[in-house]
Amino acid sequence: MRCPYCQTELPDHATECTHCDWVRDSTIEELRGENWLAAMLSFVPGLGHLYKGHLVSGILLLCVGGPAFLLFVMLLAPKTFGLSLLLPALFVAATAFHAFHLPDVRVHPGPREHALRTLAHWGKRMHR
Ligand SMILES: [Zn+2]
Repeated sequence: MRCPYCQTELPDHATECTHCDWVRDSTIEELRGENWLAAMLSFVPGLGHLYKGHLVSGILLLCVGGPAFLLFVMLLAPKTFGLSLLLPALFVAATAFHAFHLPDVRVHPGPREHALRTLAHWGKRMHR
């Protein structure tokens, strides 16, 4: 492709020009939009992570982390006079914050590749 401003030859799907200050608008818009969407999806902890292609942490949050946390809160509720019921809000906020700042791995290296790398990383840690 060529830069729409200065006609410099750029790699395909370039997001900015190497010669002038042209930046692809949609790139900035998309990244911001996706981050907020990921944060909002985190009202169901794990969905925001899945959305950005983080399969392992997303599934763990969705199937293990969220339910385990809720159970913990329920068990704690009678002992804290119900104060522990405020914790899910904190949990959701923390998850949303994390999802918001996660790198988007859907395109690079791809959800499957990222999942494999995560598992390989954890496997190495466990064998140490
Ligand atoms: Zn240019």
